[in-house]
Amino acid sequence: MTLKLNDPSLFRQAAFIAGQWREASGDQRIDVDNPADGSLVGHVPACTEQDTKDAIEAARIAQAAWQRRTGTERGVVLAEWHRLILDNVEDLARIMTAEQGKVLAEARGEVRYAASFFKWYAEEATRSEGQLLTTSDPHRRVLVLKQPVGVTAAITPWNFPLAMITRKCGPAIAAGCSMVIKPSELTPYSALALAALGERAGIPAGLLSVVTGWPADVGKVLTESPVVRKLTFTGSTGVGKILIRQCADTVKKLSLELGGNAPFLVFDDARVKLAADGIMQSKFRNAGQTCVCANRVLIQDGIWDRLVPELATRVESLRVGHGTDPDSTVGPLINDAAVRKVREHVEDALAKGARYVGAPLRIEGRFVWPVVLEGITTDMRVVHEETFGPVLPLLRFKTEEEAVSIANNTPFGLASYFFTDDISRIWRVGEALEFGMIGQNTGSISMESVPFGGVKESGLGREGGHVGMEEFLEMKSLHLGGL
Ligand code: ADP
Repeated sequence: MTLKLNDPSLFRQAAFIAGQWREASGDQRIDVDNPADGSLVGHVPACTEQDTKDAIEAARIAQAAWQRRTGTERGVVLAEWHRLILDNVEDLARIMTAEQGKVLAEARGEVRYAASFFKWYAEEATRSEGQLLTTSDPHRRVLVLKQPVGVTAAITPWNFPLAMITRKCGPAIAAGCSMVIKPSELTPYSALALAALGERAGIPAGLLSVVTGWPADVGKVLTESPVVRKLTFTGSTGVGKILIRQCADTVKKLSLELGGNAPFLVFDDARVKLAADGIMQSKFRNAGQTCVCANRVLIQDGIWDRLVPELATRVESLRVGHGTDPDSTVGPLINDAAVRKVREHVEDALAKGARYVGAPLRIEGRFVWPVVLEGITTDMRVVHEETFGPVLPLLRFKTEEEAVSIANNTPFGLASYFFTDDISRIWRVGEALEFGMIGQNTGSISMESVPFGGVKESGLGREGGHVGMEEFLEMKSLHLGGL
């Protein structure tokens, strides 16, 4: 396919290793297709174990020099990178829509969101501070130094091909780390375009590499390398568990953003239109393919009859279509397996007694028309598995205790949402929900300045905000004795 870009040099079909754009040493390539129509977007190198080792070695050398630069100098490069992303929003969005499918308006939004991490961490780079501690020994003072972790690796998913990378490499670079990135093999072009802009911004050769390739080859080297001191990963809980095991032998620091099963609770006193806004925002972004998407909507008896028709009307007004069509609001799903999962979840729910509110499931290729289901019970797959598609299952509940208990009855603990204006309930439910992120009267919870992450099997560590940079810093206590 031909991708029309203002700056065609942002579309790179080579890996970026040790400051060089190059092919894989084995000369193998991976095809990347457009989820909307299956057409070939292009191909990228299937990097080998040796290519990955080259990237790690370059990262080791570059990091030693980078950590000696001041936070201010590191911030200047990140700020320039931020500016370059904003200068190229349209091209980056087009690349993203071509490989990922999301509608252009959302792609542009993601590009800006991705850039916001560079701005925030450019500023944060200048504010890294240690501590001076008093101790029980009058002859001693203790300093706590913060030093970069060193060489780090990132393995990132396809659903946010740009933001899941900047959220990781922004704080890493600000902290003085280097990073080897393995983007999803489904969406490598956003990562490569980002690297092209990083090169222009003045990121030193080797500090950041993008190693395209199959997960097993690249992932194995990144996780087993003793040089790589930290792995940061966003993806499924299943793969996260494999990576934890693979990192065990070298005791790497880990940040993991894994799967979710977000509940969305609407209480009787909630404002109907506001709740509907929140559900639509949380459920249908990226065609339902986000780890913080409302997976199960729990509606209290007293508001059910007002909220459900409102939701049905709004879902009817969604426009499914090619991401480049300005009228589309829901793009295709990423691949056939994703479509299959949605179909299976809906069929399972219907077989166990669920009913459609509005139109039945319609699938054409990878396009899935949003559906609303009522009569949902807790034995259905839509309730205890992440559907990752445009399916809105509605559960009815009577009491707050019942809703909180259903919400928490999952091994996952990433995002949750609840709508109410009752101040006591806000505190009660906010404290009772076992999730790393909670939106009260809002369906959006991602911001560069706020910690993002989950509890239970949804992950380890946090990204974003002050703590997002701490994750790339080691603490060292320096005891000054004999005073
Ligand atoms: P998703 O469900 O979002 O596709 P995955 O967990 O399958 O998430 O993939 C997220 C990232 O993890 C991708 O970059 C993928 O290539 C990578 N990945 C998948 N399996 C492995 C593995 N065994 N080792 C290392 N990386 C992997």
